[in-house]
Amino acid sequence: MLDCYDIIIIGGGVAAASAVLTAKNRGKTVAVITNGEETSSLYRAERITNYPGLPAMSGKEMSEVFRRQIEENATDLIRGRALNVMPMDEVFGVAVGNDFYQCRALIIAAGITRENLYPGEGEFLGRGVSYCATCDGMLYRGKTVAVIGSGHEAAEDADFLESIGCTVIRMRENGKYEIKGGLKANAVVFRGEEQAVDGIFIIKDTVSVTRLVPSLVYENGGIVTNRDMSTSVPGVFAAGDCTGKPYQLAKAAGEGNIAALSACEYLAAKK
Ligand SMILES: Cc1cc2nc3c(=O)[nH]c(=O)nc-3n(C[C@H](O)[C@H](O)[C@H](O)COP(=O)(O)OP(=O)(O)OC[C@H]3O[C@@H](n4cnc5c(N)ncnc54)[C@H](O)[C@@H]3O)c2cc1C
Repeated sequence: MLDCYDIIIIGGGVAAASAVLTAKNRGKTVAVITNGEETSSLYRAERITNYPGLPAMSGKEMSEVFRRQIEENATDLIRGRALNVMPMDEVFGVAVGNDFYQCRALIIAAGITRENLYPGEGEFLGRGVSYCATCDGMLYRGKTVAVIGSGHEAAEDADFLESIGCTVIRMRENGKYEIKGGLKANAVVFRGEEQAVDGIFIIKDTVSVTRLVPSLVYENGGIVTNRDMSTSVPGVFAAGDCTGKPYQLAKAAGEGNIAALSACEYLAAKK
């Protein structure tokens, strides 16, 4: 791991793959933070027939191609979920669980990330609701916790919490959960049934971009960008579905390429 990368890319789909290829060709050090290709939109697509240069294939097969390209071209591939981005003087800090990475420019290629908080989630965040078992698990040793989430990371976090002595209620179904409590969260309601708990870990595949980088301007379901894919935060670029419609592979790849070129220009101007 480097102390500070030229560029960190958050994502792992086609926009991230396109950005990493261009940034690498421009001689930049690049870390890609991704929670796995199986969480990308593409992975769910049955058959892709409109991507130039590749024959018709399943989304899963195409995801594999992009994953390999990212692995082969990134300076470092960091598996995990970026939880937040902290702008600090000339660099950005990105938290992934308990780890922290730094870069001089950032590309967000996180796909569609919706705000959609469960009722009570925002209110009790930090008061019984956590997004990170590694960070907060020890607080709940010997206690009962709920882990809400259907993905791979949610399952791993539930295993981890059990291993440190928590009683874990796994809530893997998709649907509307409600968090209840007083001073602290103390119950989860799902389909009218209330479960008493001491803590609640909400492990979604993504973090909404407004939480990831709070000062970003976000409108009509997308990060607002200029034609060079720069955002309202200097040094932060965005590409792919996270910038809004159309939600299409070719558009995401093109934006990833532009975002990487613009990030390189931004870095050159800073020297
Ligand atoms: C069922 C379906 C069928 C489709 N069919 C077609 C088609 O035929 N043709 C076409 O052109 N398009 C199609 N699309 C759309 C296409 O898949 C998307 O436009 C494209 O995948 C967007 O790429 P992306 O890189 O922007 O985002 P994604 O592919 O969604 O990748 C983003 C990745 O970043 C990860 N991520 C997000 N936040 C974080 C974080 N905080 N930390 C770490 N990782 C994070 C996500 O989990 C995800 O893996 C389809 C989509 C779906 C759902």
